[in-house]
Amino acid sequence: MKASEHASKSIKGRIHSFESFSALDGPGIRYVIFFSGCPMRCIFCHNVDMVESLPGTYNEYSVAEVIKRVERARPFFTCSRSGGGITLSGGEPFFQFEFMLNLLKECKKLKIHTVVDTNLYASPREIDTVSKWVDLFLVGLKHIDNQKHLELTGKDNTIILKNISFLDSIKKPFWLRYVVIPGITDDEKDIRQLATFLSDFNHLELVELLPYHRLGLKKWEALGKSYALPDVKPPTAEEMLRVKKVFQAFDLPVDVGDVEVLESYL
Ligand code: SF4
Repeated sequence: MKASEHASKSIKGRIHSFESFSALDGPGIRYVIFFSGCPMRCIFCHNVDMVESLPGTYNEYSVAEVIKRVERARPFFTCSRSGGGITLSGGEPFFQFEFMLNLLKECKKLKIHTVVDTNLYASPREIDTVSKWVDLFLVGLKHIDNQKHLELTGKDNTIILKNISFLDSIKKPFWLRYVVIPGITDDEKDIRQLATFLSDFNHLELVELLPYHRLGLKKWEALGKSYALPDVKPPTAEEMLRVKKVFQAFDLPVDVGDVEVLESYL
């Protein structure tokens, strides 16, 4: 092994946690690896304890150590008829690019289905490199309007929109995940603008609408941070269906899950 390869393999990842049985993070049953660190600062983040890589919020693992865990969980995610695998989430996996790349390569050597759940705030070169080892991207776009995106996340969305177009240009399948926040991300004009943008793509497999929730509020309190949306309520099933219909009018594949289950859960 070359010295540079050895150095790259010895890189450790800062991992917040692992979830061994998720049905919400891609197709089938997923083994989810939550990366620590994110370049964005979303005011509604439900994983705020994974954003800043504060001491005590993560542990360091080598790729081999993570793979050992993945192998132990493999019987669970491979029993899924709809095809399971691993999902890298967080936080933001691209924030630890080298570690993510090494981990994905090892997973593909083992013929494991790979998903990356990302905000795509990354360089096209990084996306291109990683994409060879990724079966599906879950792209979390926070807002189509640049100014509103900036206010919600602290970052411009220009690079993200370009990267979504780039993903499609390299023929990589992706799902677009969108959090419906009443009064903030559900304006009909904005949704139409988003649907128009998405209509151009050939490799968008699904628009996944996620209802805003406040389950992460306790994490903000535990970190001594004030939460910007304490009075915003989760959307009702009707509100979710209203947004869904806009995407359907553009002939886009869209999913809100089971809205009745959703309402009891919210
Ligand atoms: S991109 Fe995701 S992890 Fe990062 S701050 Fe936003 S919601 Fe949190």
